[in-house]
Parts: sequence; structure tokens; C-alpha cells
Amino acid sequence: MDQLPVFLDLRGRRVVVIGGGEVAARKVRMLQRAAADVLVVAPELHAELAEEASHGRIQHRAGFFNATDLDAAWLVVAATGDAEVNRAVSKAAAERRIFVNAVDDSAACSLLMPAIVDRSPLVMAVGTGGGAPVLARRTRARLEALFPQSLGVLAAAATRWRERARSVLPDTDRRRRFWDRFYSGASALPVTAEALDRHIERALDAAAAAARTGVEDLRGEVWLIGAGPGDPDLLTLRALQLLQECDVVLYDRLVSDEVLERVRRDAERVFVGKEYGSHRATQTHIHELMLEHARLGRRVARLKGGDPMVFARGGEELAVLAAAGIPVTVVPGVTAALGAAASAGIPLTHRGVSQAVTFVTAMGEAAAALDWRALAAPLQTAVFYMGVTQLPQIIAQLRAHGAPGGRAAAIVESATLPGERLITGTLDDIVERSVEAQVRAPALLIVGDVVLQAAGAPQHQPLESRTGEQEAE
Ligand code: SAH
Repeated sequence: MDQLPVFLDLRGRRVVVIGGGEVAARKVRMLQRAAADVLVVAPELHAELAEEASHGRIQHRAGFFNATDLDAAWLVVAATGDAEVNRAVSKAAAERRIFVNAVDDSAACSLLMPAIVDRSPLVMAVGTGGGAPVLARRTRARLEALFPQSLGVLAAAATRWRERARSVLPDTDRRRRFWDRFYSGASALPVTAEALDRHIERALDAAAAAARTGVEDLRGEVWLIGAGPGDPDLLTLRALQLLQECDVVLYDRLVSDEVLERVRRDAERVFVGKEYGSHRATQTHIHELMLEHARLGRRVARLKGGDPMVFARGGEELAVLAAAGIPVTVVPGVTAALGAAASAGIPLTHRGVSQAVTFVTAMGEAAAALDWRALAAPLQTAVFYMGVTQLPQIIAQLRAHGAPGGRAAAIVESATLPGERLITGTLDDIVERSVEAQVRAPALLIVGDVVLQAAGAPQHQPLESRTGEQEAE
């Protein structure tokens, strides 16, 4: 280790920045976050710095660097953009035993500015000794993804409850376990101070009762998590954070192996995929499993393809959990329609072509009750989920309710997954094309002339059967 990482308390302490340009402005911003007393020495100031100076938030001495500028400084930053001047500043600082940061010149630095992940009061600093700043930045980005934004709020709340925790949980081990659990579920915790306080109070009471009676409070919780359309990189940060913390994961058929690989290695994996025809029985079974695991005190990740609130029976699962008094958090996911639109390059709305989009499922008896006339209307997009086996019926309904045969349509199979395929056509020929292509689930049907915007889509060809639908509409 060539440098010792430290945290400096710069509040109210004089820091001198030599240089008044863009780079200097960036450094000043950082120093202001640490409430330093900043003096900028430069003949001219970047607009942002000028603004700060005019409000008295920094001081400015107009002119070139002079060694006497360092009088009273705790720290110096050389950011002139002129390597020679920066070196001179560095030398003058060294003579006065003042730490100096010379931008982009680690040899002239006695102090390096790390890349920072700020979840104040939790702050992480990353450095590479100045040799690989891009690596430091990339590392920082990964840390950003790993730690929930709310950590700062949590740390502040923990500080408020520290004394109380000490008195109701005098046993150090127990107290450590309590806080450990608190932070490990951080991504699912409320973020308002009041809600957090209520949460901590309840949890502390339960932990204190457990300590008293020797009977552990075994109330786990459930995280209803959207896994997105398949590509694991489309998981939300929160989904990823919670998948790294769960004890057990109950996952559906549509959750890809790649997503499952992001689950904490020692979490138990339970497949609860439903096969067609036996929906009702298995949904009840899923409810029982969720309750069973949660009642053992576990943190249950209920992982569903796409978004848990879109054609996913999330509402039913929420109701069951609420009735049983099990805390539950919903984490949204990228629904299949959005994943498919993105990877097929089909905008779901487009000025002058489509001004509304409907997500619809035409499964089973409910299909008859759909407002087919509305779905067949022009200037909109309809995305049909679970439509592969129903494709001929869907197209027939749309045609029967006035959609022209030339209206564009596309099928996106295994959207965002390695085997993704795009089949385009019109209402007249999409059934035939899908049979030819042997389309398999999971696949989405997108109906609307937005499909024609999928320029560059490999399988897309202008279709002769189009009959000037746009003019007709
Ligand atoms: N909750 C899920 C939808 C579940 S219904 C979501 O928000 O996406 C299941 C249907 O979603 C499938 O029949 C299929 O129509 C669609 N689907 C899910 N993943 C898909 C994918 N990767 N590619 C295409 N369609 C997909």
C-alpha cells in the first residue's frame, strides 16, 4: 500500500485551489461537499465558480499563483491545466509541509483524491495510487450498484436508535445480529424517517421479547421481485441487491438460468413453475410455500418473470401475505413488452403512428370479454402476452372487429435472451409466418404500425400485402 486512505475533516478549514477552469470547478464541488473553506486562485473563473464566488460560497483571488497563497492552507489542489505551474504549486506546498493534489500528475501529489461512493455517513473511497483512475471509476460504479441509495438514511436511523438498542438488547451478539439483519434487508426497507423508526421500534421490541422469553420471533418477509424478460443485466439494482440477501427463492418457469445465477449462492432454490391446465392448484401451493418459508423466519424472494404486477398474479400473492401479516415488498421488473420493444427496436408509441399502448392477454374464456373493437382501432399498439397458442383466434377477432389485414404485426420470441427471434408481417400473414418459423413460448405479439419503425430489424422486409392502411385510417 503506497498511500494510507484517510478521511479528512475539512469543515471550515482553508483549502486552496489553484486554477479556475472546469477541472478546478469539479474539485471545488467535492471540497464544498465536505464543507471546506475554499479559496480559488486564478486570473479568471469558470462560470460555475464565478457564480459560487458571487454568492460568497467560495473566495476568489484574481491572479496567478503565488507561494503566499498557501499561507493558512491545510490542503492545496493544483488544477491549472498547466503541468509546469502545477509542479511549482506542488513544490511550494511540499516546502511548507502542506498536502497537495496535482490533477493528473500523481508524481506531484502527496495526496490523491479517491473515487467516492457517498451514502453519508457511510462513505467508500476507491483509489489505485493514481495509476489506473479508470479502474477506480469502474470499481466505484460497481459499488454504487451494490449498495442501496437508502443506506445513508438507514445509518442515520440506526444512529437514532443506537442507545435504545443497547439498553433493550444488552447482549452484544444479539445486538450485532439485530443490526446485521437490519442492513441486509436494506433494499426492501422504507425510506421515510418515520416509517423507518416504526420499523426499527417494532423489530427491536420483537428482538427484546425474543431475548426475554428465549422464543425467537420467526416472522420472515417476502420480496415480490420482477426478474425482467430474461437478460440478467435487465434486473433492477434493487432486485439484484435482494437476490443477494434472500434465504430462499421461489421462481417461475420464465425466470432465466442467467438470472438465477445472480441469486446468493447458498440460498435455497425452489421451482414453482406452473404448467398449463393446473393453474389454480399450483397457485394455492405457491401461497402455502411462501407462507411456510416466511413463518420459518426466512427472507423469501418470490421471483417472477418480467414485472410481478403484470399478468403475474402479484395481486393475489400480496393479498395472501397481507392477510397472514407477513411483511412484503414489491420490486418492479422490466415487463416482457418493454424488453421486446427495446431489443427488437420497435417503439411502442410513435408520433403520428400510435398514441396509446395496451398490454393484453387473450387467454382462456376471458378473451371473449375483451373489448376487441377498441383493440382493433387505429393509431395504437396492442401487445398480446401469452398469445402463441391463441394467435389465430386473436388475429381473427381483430379482423372481425375492423382491423385492416394490412396492419403490421410482429412476434418477438425469447426477447432479450440469446435465442431471440423477430418475425414481422401483417394481420393477413402473421399466422402463416409464425407457423413457418415454428414460434415457441415465450413470445409476444405486437400489433400496430409501429412495427414498421423497426428499421434495421434483420427479418423485416417491406410487405407487399400492405394496402395503404395509414391513408385508409
Ligand atoms: N409478468 C410477466 C408476464 C408473465 S405472462 C411480464 O411482466 O413480462 C407470460 C407471458 O409473457 C409469456 O407467455 C409471453 O407472452 C410473455 N413473455 C415473458 N417473457 C418473455 C420473453 N423473454 N420474450 C417474449 N415474451 C415473453
